[in-house]
Formats: sequence, C-alpha cells, structure tokens
Amino acid sequence: MPRPGRSSRATSARGGGAPEEGTWRELQMSPPGFFRGMTLDLGSALRAAAGVGASPFTPRIEYLNPSPLQPERLPRIQIPSGVSPRMPHFVDTDRLIREKSRQLPPLASGSSVQVRGGLAITRGLTMAHFYLDFPDFGAQWREVNLRGLTEPHCQFLGGNIQVVVAIEVFVLESYRPEVDSTNSAIFALVLEHELHHVRDSIDLAVSFMPARLLGDELSRRYLIDRQSIERRSLSYYFEGHRLPRNVETELDQPRSGLGFETLVRGSIWGPEASRRADALHALELQRYADRIQDLERARVNGRLWRGGPGGDPWRD
Ligand SMILES: [Zn+2]
Repeated sequence: MPRPGRSSRATSARGGGAPEEGTWRELQMSPPGFFRGMTLDLGSALRAAAGVGASPFTPRIEYLNPSPLQPERLPRIQIPSGVSPRMPHFVDTDRLIREKSRQLPPLASGSSVQVRGGLAITRGLTMAHFYLDFPDFGAQWREVNLRGLTEPHCQFLGGNIQVVVAIEVFVLESYRPEVDSTNSAIFALVLEHELHHVRDSIDLAVSFMPARLLGDELSRRYLIDRQSIERRSLSYYFEGHRLPRNVETELDQPRSGLGFETLVRGSIWGPEASRRADALHALELQRYADRIQDLERARVNGRLWRGGPGGDPWRD
C-alpha cells in the first residue's frame, strides 16, 4: 500500500486515464527535470479546480499617511480616481533627502524602487515601496516527499499572494497650507503633482505587476504551475514571507529569504516605476514648477494669492 501522498499523485498524473501503478512507474523512470515538474500534479481537471495555473496575485494598497485630507479647507486639488487623498507628512529638507534614499534593498544596480520626482527634489516626494505578502505562509506551503529525490521539497498550495504598494507622501514643512493663502495654493499644487505619482504607483500594483508576474519564469513555475521547489530554494526565494512584515521598519533592515521579491523588484517594478515617474515629469513638471515660482515671486512683491478654500490655484 503506497503512502497517501504518493498514491494521489500517481492516480492523477495523466489525467485519470492511466492505471495508478503504471503511471507512477513511468514517472519514476523519467529524467529528473521532467520528474520534478510533473510528479506533484493532479489531473488537469483537478488542477484547474484547485486553481493551478490561475494567477494568485491580488493588489493591495497601503497608505502610510494615516490622516485623511480635508479638501474643503484647501484650494482646489484634482484628486485622481482611485486615490484616497491623505494629509502628507511635513518634513524638513534633510528628512526629505533621507527619505528619498530609503528603499527596500537590495536592488539590481541602476534601478530604483522609489518614484522619484523633480518637484520632489525640493518640495514634495512620493515614496512607493513594492513588496509581496503571503497572507498565511504556513498554510500556503507544504513539504512533499518525492520518491527518488534526496532533497526535501515543498509545494505552493495556492491562496492569494498580495502585490503590495506602500505609499507615503512628503511635503516640505515650509509649504504648510495654514501659513498664508500663497502657501495654501502652493501646497495644493505640490500635493496635486504628488497624487499623480500615487495614481501611477497604484496602477503598478493593480494592473502592471500582476500581469507581468504571470510572465516571470520563477513565478510561473512555483506560484502558478505549483511545481515542487527544493527546500533550500524555498528558503532563499520565499521563506522570508513566513512572518508578518512592517514595511516601514524593515526599510533599513531587510530580512533574508526574499530572493524572489528582490529579483522582481529589481527587474520588473523598479524600471517601470522609474519610467512612469520620468514620463509624468516630462508631461507636467515644468508647468507646476513655473506656477509655484509665479506664486512665490508675487508674494515677495507683496501680493498674496487672492483665492481661498475651493479656489483655483492656477489662477491669481
Ligand atoms: Zn514628481
């Protein structure tokens, strides 16, 4: 009598038509690569019913600015759809520069996880940190014993894998809106531009990353097709997800066992995040910077912005 784990594998490896023992022997004689890929599989109908081959990736947006914005007290800000507007964190220049250099390391050289900004360089900054989250890692993986393999193996059992973007917006404290009407208009403009970065970052997590992860080789093999993975590879690529994470505190102290996430961040997330930030800046940065300079120049000349709450910061 074969052990339960084995017999179920054997039964279904060919979709249910072949006799158990014959199928199992056939697999035993297969070359290692083939063997590894096929043995854990259920029959194709069972596989489909179990979600094998389906995307496990679901987006999650994390706002690291807890306070909601009170737009009725501010000049008009166009809020992109899908964005929950929050009061940014007000920081000084040193802190802004420090925040800009914080990211979930390590990265492939030349790529950047953060959404950078030109306006961001002096007035505002949007940090968008990408990471993956297995809601119940312990229940989502199991150890499997494969006859003929000496290395212990594991298999992904399914459930969601969350594609998370943690977003934090900063604005220089010298642009606090309550200082005067000119400041409130500049604040509105700075924040409006940052909210465009927020919108782009959300789209990365909701649309871009889940689609691109389907085409990634490691992701396809282990998370979508659910082939077995050697125990030590699991430790390197995925095991770091076993315990809950606090992205803010881990920015400076990354844990090990996140090889897959790190690869994906460097090769997929980083380049696209940078590309979108550059495209956004090419599109609108000059316009915002010019308007802000006009407002500042007018104030130097004794003319404060004449608008108030609900007013259009693009008009005097
Ligand atoms: Zn920017």
